[in-house]
Amino acid sequence: MSEKVSDCIFCKIAAGEIPSDKVYEDERVLAFRDINPQAPTHILVIPKEHIDSAADITAENAPLAARCLEIIADVAKAEGLSGGFRVITNVGEDGGQSVRHLHFHLLGGVKMNEGLL
Ligand code: AMP
Repeated sequence: MSEKVSDCIFCKIAAGEIPSDKVYEDERVLAFRDINPQAPTHILVIPKEHIDSAADITAENAPLAARCLEIIADVAKAEGLSGGFRVITNVGEDGGQSVRHLHFHLLGGVKMNEGLL
């Protein structure tokens, strides 16, 4: 697990080198609004430290991934998503992952259809 990948856009967002619409930040995790929202609430939650994807979660970095899930619950509450929400993480090309830095999509504010999941 490397500290920062130089050509990674989410590493740059985490470092504050590229602006983002932040909704939560601490020393390990950042949550910011997706630039191309797919739901009324569409927030990305990322570990600041670079992990390529959920396929790269190990015993060592699992606490950081778990921290992201903890923040998702807090952010969903703060966003008023009391009726529920959806969490998605895409992995690799077949999974539709376009940014190779672990991120969880938090989607809500609308009743999700039953497609895919
Ligand atoms: P994925 O396709 O699962 O890798 O998701 C990547 C997500 O990052 C997409 O939903 C994009 O809209 C979003 N995204 C890409 N660049 C930015 C950015 N600079 N700020 C906010 N969201 C972004």
